[in-house]
Amino acid sequence: MSHAGASCAGGSIQDDPVTIRIPFNRPFIVGKELSYIAEAVANGQIAADGVYTKLCSRFLEERFAVPRVLLTPSCTAALEMAAILCDLGPGDEVIMPSYTFVSTASAVVRTGARPVFVDIRPDTLNLDEAKIEEALGPRTKMIVPVHYAGVACEMDTIMGIAAAHGLRVVEDAAQAVHGYYKGRALGSLGHFGAYSFHETKNFICGEGGALCVNDAACIRRAEIVRDKGTNRQQYFRGEIDKYTWVDVGSSYVPSEISAAFLWAQLEHLEPITSRRQAIFQRYREALSPLEAAGLLRLPRIPAECQTNFHMFYILLPTPDLRDRLMAHLKSVGILSVFHYVPLHNSPLGEKLGCARRELPVTVDVSPRLLRLPFYFGLSADEQGEVIEGITRFLRERA
Ligand SMILES: *Cc1c(COP(=O)(O)O)cnc(C)c1O
Repeated sequence: MSHAGASCAGGSIQDDPVTIRIPFNRPFIVGKELSYIAEAVANGQIAADGVYTKLCSRFLEERFAVPRVLLTPSCTAALEMAAILCDLGPGDEVIMPSYTFVSTASAVVRTGARPVFVDIRPDTLNLDEAKIEEALGPRTKMIVPVHYAGVACEMDTIMGIAAAHGLRVVEDAAQAVHGYYKGRALGSLGHFGAYSFHETKNFICGEGGALCVNDAACIRRAEIVRDKGTNRQQYFRGEIDKYTWVDVGSSYVPSEISAAFLWAQLEHLEPITSRRQAIFQRYREALSPLEAAGLLRLPRIPAECQTNFHMFYILLPTPDLRDRLMAHLKSVGILSVFHYVPLHNSPLGEKLGCARRELPVTVDVSPRLLRLPFYFGLSADEQGEVIEGITRFLRERA
C-alpha cells in the first residue's frame, strides 16, 4: 500500500514501458541521519525509547506546545492508540471525512465502533464543520478532523461542537506537522493528535509517527497503552519497583534507528519547510494563469491557516480531463497521482452501511484531483518540466 499512490492510486509504474524521470515522491537525507543511526548502534541501544526518541519527543513537545508527545511506529498506530484511549467500542459512532486515508477509519472500526462519514468543504477539502451537527446521534463519541494537505480544519467550530456534546476530538494531523491554525500547532488542538513521518510526508524516517497527548489526564494511560499494556515507563522513572500488566495495549513503540533518522530531519525543520514553500509558490505562480483561464483550480488556504506546504494538488474541470492529463504527464516521464478514493462507498464502507449518506462534494472532487510531484530534492528543472507539461496539455488539448 503506497501513500504516494504510485502502486494503488496513481497507476503502477512497473508494467509501463515509459521510464518515470520525475517521480511523485523521493525520500531524502538532509543532515546527519546516517551518522545518528551509527551512533545509536554504537551507544548499544536500538530498541525503543533511547536518546533519539527522547530528543524527538521533547523537541515536538516544546516546539508545538504539546504536554506529551509519544513516538509511534506510524500515524496509524497513533490513531489506534487514540481510539483505545477514548474507550471506543461496539456501537459507538465517530464523525470523520470519507475523503481521507484508510487509517483514519480503520483505527476506529477495529474497536467495533462505526465511522459516520461527513462531507468536505469545497475550498479546503477538509471536514465540513457546518455538516457535523446533523450527523450527530446518541452514540456519537468522537470527531476526527483530517488536516488535508497540511491546511487546518475549522478547529474553533469543531472544538465548540465537541464541547457542547461531550465528544472527544482526535486530529488526524498525519500531513500537518508544523502546520498552524490561528498560530497554534496542528496536532495540539484536539484531545489527541496523530502525526506521520512516513517517507511521503514533510519530515520522514521511513515509517514513523507520533501521538500528541493534549489531555494531560490521559498521559499516564497513553504510556501504558503504548508499552504493551504495562507500566514499564513508571518503572523506568523509578516510580514503582517492578513493572506489570495493567491495561490493554500493544507494541506502539518505534525503533531508535527510526528516531535517529527522524532527529536529523527535525533539526532541519525550517530549511525543509522553506524549500517546500518555494516549490509550492512556484507551482502556484506558474499555474495561476491556467486557473484564470478556467482550466484548473488551485489549492485554497484560509487566512487563519498556516500551511506546512505538504502537497500541491490541482482540480481539473472534469474526471476525464484529470485522467488524460495524468496519462499525458506519464507519457513524458512525470508521475502525478490521484488521491483518496472515498471510503464511504468502498467495499468495506458499503458492508458497514456507510454508503447511505450523500456526500456530493467528496464524490465530485475525488475524481478531479491530481497531485503533482513534490519532494525536498525536486530540482528547478524538474519542476519546470512538470509546469510545462501541464501548461502545454491544458492549453492545447483541453
Ligand atoms: C499518511 C496518512 C496516514 C497514515 O500515516 P502512516 O504513518 O503511514 O500510518 C493517516 N492519515 C492521513 C490523512 C495520512 O495522510
